[in-house]
Amino acid sequence: TKRITSPATLPEEVDDATIRPARFDEFVGQPQVKETLAIAIAAAKKRGESLDHILFSGPPGLGKTTLARIIAREMGVAIRTTTGPVLDRPGDLAAQLTALNRGDVLFIDEIHRLNPVVEEILYPAMEDSCIDVMIGEGPGARSVQLPLEEFTLVGATTKVGLLGSPLRDRFGFIFRLNLYEVGDLAAIVQRSAGIMQTPITPEGALEIAKRSRGTPRIANRLLRRVRDFALVRGDGSIDGETADLALTMLGIDQLGLDDLDRRILSVIAYDFGGGPVGVKTIAISVGEEVRTVEEVYEPYLIQIGFIKRTPQGRETTAAAEEHIRTTPRE
Ligand code: ATP
Repeated sequence: TKRITSPATLPEEVDDATIRPARFDEFVGQPQVKETLAIAIAAAKKRGESLDHILFSGPPGLGKTTLARIIAREMGVAIRTTTGPVLDRPGDLAAQLTALNRGDVLFIDEIHRLNPVVEEILYPAMEDSCIDVMIGEGPGARSVQLPLEEFTLVGATTKVGLLGSPLRDRFGFIFRLNLYEVGDLAAIVQRSAGIMQTPITPEGALEIAKRSRGTPRIANRLLRRVRDFALVRGDGSIDGETADLALTMLGIDQLGLDDLDRRILSVIAYDFGGGPVGVKTIAISVGEEVRTVEEVYEPYLIQIGFIKRTPQGRETTAAAEEHIRTTPRE
């Protein structure tokens, strides 16, 4: 989807290197994660060992890749990045693993989507720093063990429940990243605006933060759009009113909901009398994939108390029904 409120990276966003935090002290929020990691890194460095394997779970756009990069930087090692679905055959992963130098970080995004035969290569790699490779074919084939340098696997997944326990149990740390509070998002917007040399008032930052669905990536994206608006319609600086005007024009309401969110809520509230209704039915009604509804839209709608997940299906709350009734659609 190319929606402006999508937590996924949009094509034009490949180059956000300037605003991506490079150190823990630039990384806003998630204090427990930062503290635990900082201690683990300091200890590993003192012992001269590589860092234990780390798994991050949580919705997209919350900083999993950013944390993996910070970890590598603080450890003083290189990072290689790849994603689960790209590693098609065992050889693809073996190539990544054998290219690592001692202590390096291998970051695998969407690790829950690894091909099972590829995933099996990871077990001995994570545990004993070696891989088993098959040489030859047919009756003459044999397996040889190839030693690897010690390395740190950093895995990221939107759904930790989709990870099998053989893989999950091999991570020394499992961190769950939650959606960000408005205050943290406002701080992220302030910081990014500073780097972009865009003047912004605290009210302007807050307005953008409130409409960013708890997601730093969306906050930065909305900031860019508001910044364009401010430049064309005003003097380039952002206050609360400019932010509100720009975001309303983009079809993003006071809570950061867009048309698709409102359709999801209407389907449950009006077509199914408030629910409970299964997520498959919702997905079909709004023309989206089940996975997208579950992993992209729902987390925020649940966080703001608009949708309840019950064993029978999804239900809308009174607050949700009030919101779609009182907030005009585009
Ligand atoms: P995905 O899993 O979809 O790749 P992700 O969780 O890896 O997402 P990142 O790419 O790390 O997300 O973060 C998205 C963007 O949000 C980054 O470019 C970064 O600038 C910004 N960002 C994320 N977390 C923070 C934070 N805690 N403080 C400041 N900026 C952040």
